[in-house]
Amino acid sequence: MASKPKLKPCPCCGAKAKLTTTRETFEVRGTVMRTWSHQIHCTRCPVQTCGIVGGDSDKLIAAWNRRAK
Ligand SMILES: [Zn+2]
Repeated sequence: MASKPKLKPCPCCGAKAKLTTTRETFEVRGTVMRTWSHQIHCTRCPVQTCGIVGGDSDKLIAAWNRRAK
């Protein structure tokens, strides 16, 4: 199993960033869908990425790391 890319520190304040994965359940036309939602946020300031629902967290980590200096 491949290891996950490392999260860079927050682009604003340099504090540690955290990846949160939550289970999402929603209903579309009577069908219950279950998926995962990923979001990265700073542990100190309000900076965060938009959540990606149903995608894989690697893409979100790559997007966060592009913002980090
Ligand atoms: Zn921050």
